[in-house]
Amino acid sequence: MSYPLSARLDRFSPSASVAAKARVTELLAQGRDVLDFTAGEPDLDSPALAIEAAHAAALAGHTRYTATSGTPLLKRAVQRKFQRDNGLDYALNEIIVGAGAKQLIYTAFSCTVDAGDEVIIPAPYWVSYPDVVQLNGGVPVIVPCPDAQGFKITPAQLQAAITPRTKWLVLNTPNNPSGAIYSQAELQGLCEVLVRHPQVWLMTDEIYEHFNYLGQALAAPARLAPELKARTLVINGVSKAYAMTGWRIGFAGGPAPLINAMDKLMSQSVGGAAGINQAAAAAALNDGASFVAHAAGLFASRRELIMQRLNSVPGLHCRPIEGAFYAYPNCAGLLGKRTPGGQVLNSDLDVRNYLLEAANVAVLHGAAYGLSPYLRLSFATSTEVIEDGCQRIKAACEALA
Ligand code: PLP
Repeated sequence: MSYPLSARLDRFSPSASVAAKARVTELLAQGRDVLDFTAGEPDLDSPALAIEAAHAAALAGHTRYTATSGTPLLKRAVQRKFQRDNGLDYALNEIIVGAGAKQLIYTAFSCTVDAGDEVIIPAPYWVSYPDVVQLNGGVPVIVPCPDAQGFKITPAQLQAAITPRTKWLVLNTPNNPSGAIYSQAELQGLCEVLVRHPQVWLMTDEIYEHFNYLGQALAAPARLAPELKARTLVINGVSKAYAMTGWRIGFAGGPAPLINAMDKLMSQSVGGAAGINQAAAAAALNDGASFVAHAAGLFASRRELIMQRLNSVPGLHCRPIEGAFYAYPNCAGLLGKRTPGGQVLNSDLDVRNYLLEAANVAVLHGAAYGLSPYLRLSFATSTEVIEDGCQRIKAACEALA
């Protein structure tokens, strides 16, 4: 039977990380002792103050539709957050709230990308960017940024990638999966290129901003080059910093005409995010600093552990992780090796499959993030899982010939 599915659906693939997570859940249900390094979310409970705020909001009757762009309460909290953490001043009509950063990224591309428009995406990248661009008829222009250059796009690479059709540069800092954080000097260099190309907009996805192991505050392009503020969209949300992935609240700051367009599109698609969840997010942004500091401290110690353990595995090399909660070791040293079963490992996908089958360790492969040969391991998991998992990975790699 043929189903009436649109041709649009053929333009993109489902998220590799969502698919990997589903596979792990399936294996666990079969009783396999799998250690899971695929999760892109903190292994913490949401802050009690957010849960209490949600409860209070529900009891107070905040159970109805909200304005599409977000409740005044949350928009004011976001306004203060941008001012406090990023030194950015946004009026309330320059702020929009959505059902997760993902939805806002989708909406921003949907509002701006026409058929054939190009979006520059440095690789490795968060899995969804290229698919969302393609779904909206755009062309992702992938720029490889290997570990030798710190996983970051250089001004020369950016300049070379820009064409008259370029609509956006997407910068995700700290980066999923590499952890890379752009320093002020690096951003300055990129801003100088962007200033010369007025057709190019800048999207900065800063959802991991609080997991920063360099000890320097993130620089904001809109402050480094104020003329860019009128074409910069800053994306953020409460999912990662406040362990609130399931509440589905993201937010963005940008020029009012773009925010209005996003509001218009969302008014005919999802509508406003759940009011109760917005109340919880506002409480987290206003009063959750100690929660974030605790989570960041926890991830910092796990980061040390996983880097040390992975660098003791023959064939893996993990450069110092700058931010977020992922290790992205290079696995070139494993390629060409033979498994005890006689299979030659030819790609990072082969390595991923070998580790799952031989060691019961679930990781993601670099190809899913646009840059091979690497593996992605989330360290938003317990130290016991990190210790045990890395031990298993080491034994499996030592068994290769
Ligand atoms: N941006 C990046 C870089 C991410 O890694 C993720 C989630 O994994 C998101 C955006 C989506 O976040 P949200 O849960 O707010 O939709």
